Amino acid sequence: MDLQLQNKVFIVSGGARGIGEAISRALAQEGAVPVIVGRSSASAEALVDELKGKGEQAYFIQKTLGAEDNCKEVIDEIISQYKQIDGVVNNAGTNDGVGLESGSPDAFKQSVTSNLTHYYYLVHYALPYLKVSRGSILNISSKTAVTGQGGTSGYAAAKGAQLALTREWAVELAPYGIRVNAIVPAEVMTPQYEKWIRTLPDPEKSLQKITANIPLGKRMTEASEIAASVVFILSERSSHTTGQWLFVDGGYVHFDRAMLKE
Ligand code: NAP
Repeated sequence: MDLQLQNKVFIVSGGARGIGEAISRALAQEGAVPVIVGRSSASAEALVDELKGKGEQAYFIQKTLGAEDNCKEVIDEIISQYKQIDGVVNNAGTNDGVGLESGSPDAFKQSVTSNLTHYYYLVHYALPYLKVSRGSILNISSKTAVTGQGGTSGYAAAKGAQLALTREWAVELAPYGIRVNAIVPAEVMTPQYEKWIRTLPDPEKSLQKITANIPLGKRMTEASEIAASVVFILSERSSHTTGQWLFVDGGYVHFDRAMLKE
């Protein structure tokens, strides 16, 4: 299936590592230009070099997201470089463990700011160009938005708000032909996940316990499986899909465990 993404320009926040990296790779493979926005330069520059070495396209803008000015500058730089924006993949985020007991009001504000506000800012400043391209927006949320996790109020609040904004923007932007969807991952091995699992007393045993509860295949979701869904939903092949929350999680969130055979 030709996804018709050649030379289309997509912002991928946090696009150099983990799920974002897989999305950048998948977009580049389809002939699109992933514009990777992230704070660390080494991994992003290496990825851009690798993709270009294969004859694919990619571009890196080094910014810490969260501050409004940085997000505006991202859009300005893309427009001066490419003159078009065909989509925004809001992906950058950190499960920073700011809970009711472990956190504080200031830490909560900071967590919500760094996990949520850039989702709005990037879309706000990209909107005039998305109207021209009839572009597509994809928000990466998290299972914590609907299941809770405990001990991570700021992150969970931001992830829930991302789902609400997905519906809200889908309604507001439908008249422009702009589609807005969310993907909800649950358990994906990424640098962030690896760091978190290592904080548990017996990481290997904890991982076994988690994967045993993932109905489809008793395994983690691959970042490339999230990316394949993202690329399809961004493309015109998904032209009548908007306002959706797609759980790419091997049945983790919704299945009735009591009905599953061992
Ligand atoms: P990751 O391995 O930490 O990669 C995230 C990337 O985003 C990193 O390159 C990071 O930069 C960048 N980033 C984070 N916050 C940023 C900020 N404020 N400004 C600029 N760059 C920023 O994380 P991941 O596991 O792939 O997660 C990606 C998304 O999936 C997140 O929204 C997360 O909530 C969601 N998610 C993941 C899982 C999972 O199981 N992994 C489950 C549910 C939802 P640095 O390299 O500088 O840190």
